[in-house]
Amino acid sequence: MNNIKKLPENLINQIAAGEVIERPSSALKELIENSIDAAATEISIYLSDGGKTLIEVVDNGKGMTLDDLSMCLERHATSKISDGDLMCIDSLGFRGEALPSIGSIANLCIESFDKSKSEAWKISIINSKKHVEPSIIRFGTKVTITDLFFKVPARLKFLKTNGTEIRYCKEVVKHLAMSHPKISFTLTIDSKKIFYWDKSERNNFEGTKNRLNQVMGEDFINSSVSVEMERDGLMLAGMVSMPTLNRNTGREQYLFVNNRPVKDRNLIGALRGAYKGLIENNRFPVAVLFLDIIPQDVDINVHPAKAEVRFKDSAKVRSIIVSGVRKSLESAGLNTAIEISNALIDKMSFSTKSINEISYDSNNLDLNNINISPSSRFTENFDSDSFEKKKTYPLGSAIAQAHGTYIISENENGLILIDQHAAHERIVLEKIRAGFLNSNIQKQILLIPEVVELTEDHFDVIIKQKDNLLKLGLAIEEFDTNTILIREHPAILDKVNFSTLIKDIADEIINFGSEFILSERLDNICGNMACHSSIRSGRLLLTSEMNALLREMEVTPNSSQCNHGRPTFIKLSVKDIEKLFGRT
Ligand code: ADP
Ligand code: MG
Repeated sequence: MNNIKKLPENLINQIAAGEVIERPSSALKELIENSIDAAATEISIYLSDGGKTLIEVVDNGKGMTLDDLSMCLERHATSKISDGDLMCIDSLGFRGEALPSIGSIANLCIESFDKSKSEAWKISIINSKKHVEPSIIRFGTKVTITDLFFKVPARLKFLKTNGTEIRYCKEVVKHLAMSHPKISFTLTIDSKKIFYWDKSERNNFEGTKNRLNQVMGEDFINSSVSVEMERDGLMLAGMVSMPTLNRNTGREQYLFVNNRPVKDRNLIGALRGAYKGLIENNRFPVAVLFLDIIPQDVDINVHPAKAEVRFKDSAKVRSIIVSGVRKSLESAGLNTAIEISNALIDKMSFSTKSINEISYDSNNLDLNNINISPSSRFTENFDSDSFEKKKTYPLGSAIAQAHGTYIISENENGLILIDQHAAHERIVLEKIRAGFLNSNIQKQILLIPEVVELTEDHFDVIIKQKDNLLKLGLAIEEFDTNTILIREHPAILDKVNFSTLIKDIADEIINFGSEFILSERLDNICGNMACHSSIRSGRLLLTSEMNALLREMEVTPNSSQCNHGRPTFIKLSVKDIEKLFGRT
């Protein structure tokens, strides 16, 4: 016989908490959203031990009466849906389940000032027992969560290190701060004040721009363009980076729908579409975009944490993002030249077959014994061969350099066009990788160590991976708060911008979280290094240097493709050329 019973209230709340409160950052998000909904203009956040022992949010919002205070812990009790219409929600909260859920898995204490009566009350749930007592606070509301998940130890086990949890929390604060420039935010972690982002009274996009400066930093503001477009009842505003400012991951793409942060795959895809042909496929622009749409055309209720949304007409949304972003990038002087040449190249046949297949066996080569560097230190050995002799090599004999970017070479079958930057980048990658795998990377000591200032997140992961980076030839030392010194670098790297290099590496590591294993991400990390130090397009090369590069390519594994998967050279056989001229 079945014995069906109704679940006890506390268990229902714990189950709901499982959906809404996944980690400290999700609890924090609920609290800040409540403060925003309460019309606060000052929000202070305190976290300890990654939020595991303390999450506290203090606001100067409208506060609660004693009745409200007792009600707010009831499940599905909310002050935010007045006419019962789920389709017209303009507050951040609406489910009325955050506080009771949190109360079921943690110790929770809420203090609030009731302006109308000029009195304050404190209600707390400690070890599942409710207490009500007078409070001394004189404004707004203070919510304190201690020992999150102590009642559900299984969840506790799934939490990451304090550093990682803090990173999630900061992301939450960043998102909400960007979309609420008229509110000041203060963040204090383990009793240390991390930032104070003062509010701006300015209207329109000016206030948001000021906030983006605080959150994203000046770098972003200086190398980005504003986006503004209105179409079919949709409004798009924001800032997106010029293609030159790009990242290893999409972590710095912030998207908002009706001022609500969302991580929506379609929107991210649209952004990628906007940069098509302007940025390499594995790089990500930095972007902050706000999309406004009439509430009836979007369903925000599809995801318990409200991160995903569903649009009535997603094609329309995609289109405004692609064209809005594209228009701004184009008006900033970027055109789509790359797309045009892609079409042209498609018409020609080019070889992506590895040249190693043609003649050389690269397996037995010790790459460190090959002498190549992007400087005038090229050896002249290869040049002692005659022009005719060099033509017998797979990549032939260099004839000329065009546009300071392409090497034109002639071999017995025809002509070869080589992208000098892409080719060199691949060689550098393979050399660093080989140096790492054979533990014999050649290092260069910096006479004046390079000082690099990082964000706290970047600093943490870089210091953690210090030993690994040393094996890759990067000797790093802690210098000051969030500042490192670089003392040595792989000898093959030349004129590196260490600041971007280190940030890119840090992003790569963060992207893989605590599961990061260097040997598995070796290609990406080496690729980052190579990318920042290769013969730049635009550098003039001597014929001897060009020939040395060609010989090096012939013995380097995978050298027919650059690190981004594009070909490094194009072969045009005499037959191909004849075809182009209509001779056959
Ligand atoms: P929701 O936000 O979905 O309504 P919550 O459980 O987060 O549900 O909060 C329940 C209610 O408690 C809210 O509707 C609001 O009336 C009240 N409340 C919560 N936090 C605050 C705050 N910081 N200031 C004023 N009222 C608050
Ligand atoms: Mg809420």
